[in-house]
Amino acid sequence: MTHASPARPTLARWLTGPRVAGLPAKLHDGEPPLLSFEFFPPRTEALEAQLWTCIRRLAPLAPRFVSVTYGAGGTTQARTHATVTRILAETALTPAAHLTCVGASRAEVDAVARGYWEAGVRHIVALRGDAPPGQDYAPHPQGYRFAAELVAGLHAIAPFEISVAAYPETHPAAISAAADLDNLKRKLDAGASRAITQYFFDTDTYLRFLDRALAAGIEAPIVPGIMPVSNFAQAARFSAACGTSIPAWLARLFEGTEDDPEIRRMVAAVAAAEQVRLLQANGVDEFHFYTLNRADLTYAIAHILGVRPAAA
Ligand SMILES: Cc1cc2nc3c(=O)[nH]c(=O)nc-3n(C[C@H](O)[C@H](O)[C@H](O)COP(=O)(O)OP(=O)(O)OC[C@H]3O[C@@H](n4cnc5c(N)ncnc54)[C@H](O)[C@@H]3O)c2cc1C
Repeated sequence: MTHASPARPTLARWLTGPRVAGLPAKLHDGEPPLLSFEFFPPRTEALEAQLWTCIRRLAPLAPRFVSVTYGAGGTTQARTHATVTRILAETALTPAAHLTCVGASRAEVDAVARGYWEAGVRHIVALRGDAPPGQDYAPHPQGYRFAAELVAGLHAIAPFEISVAAYPETHPAAISAAADLDNLKRKLDAGASRAITQYFFDTDTYLRFLDRALAAGIEAPIVPGIMPVSNFAQAARFSAACGTSIPAWLARLFEGTEDDPEIRRMVAAVAAAEQVRLLQANGVDEFHFYTLNRADLTYAIAHILGVRPAAA
């Protein structure tokens, strides 16, 4: 560099730009954040083994609950039940069973819920579910029409703890963002105690959603759903279907890593860690992880958030 070249702006930025806290992450009130982990019920013995490796790896992080999804249209009813009851029997974890009302009568859904209560399951993630691909959603003629009705129905059965879904980018079928927020309020007013969000990558979108929820009089926790992305192409396809937008910077981050899984995982860890730290810096101290039945990314991000295995 010669004396004639213009000064590089680094020093000016350092003096005037925003500061972010360095690692390790700051803990609110000295406490690590509260975590929950989501799994899907396995289809094969090999996937079952993978799930249990994942559960055993994450269990020492003492999540406040772990949830097990319900396949589209209730297709995994038996497998969800088997996974949830095995978690109850073989671990100290608190399981939450996802339950959808699409394609089933109230009596059928109620019977599944009663079965959970009798098995000792006390937490349900209550959802409407989706129509099969290519079809529009239509409620079952004798069914719960929407998740808010399901929440009320569950409450009539037993004093379940109930979580519901929230959509920072608005549910794709909602008439408007305001109507979707009204719907969230109805679900909470019907007896749900928290909302878990659809995953998102743009932190501002989530924080603006919290502002709107607060303005609508919602005071229940709205826990951010975090999807650590390791397969970008797959995540992009999935996101298009569920209404999550992919910011250009995220696509750019993964560009050129298609044939390099190891680098992709490192990039994935950094992207998700940055997202949770940004949320944490904004006061968020509860996180729900979509683990996809793989422990390592979730474990690493939890570690970065300040969570350590509970003493044995
Ligand atoms: C955390 C989380 C977990 C999930 N787990 C599962 C799972 O395990 N299995 C599964 O199949 N799917 C799951 N899903 C996906 C979910 O089933 C779909 O997103 C589904 O399309 C909506 O479910 P909901 O419970 O949000 O529905 P609802 O809250 O009933 O809302 C669905 C739509 O209907 C609208 N609406 C609600 N009430 C009315 C009304 N009275 N009149 C007109 N419109 C109305 C809402 O605005 C929204 O657009 C999950 C989603 C999330 C965020």
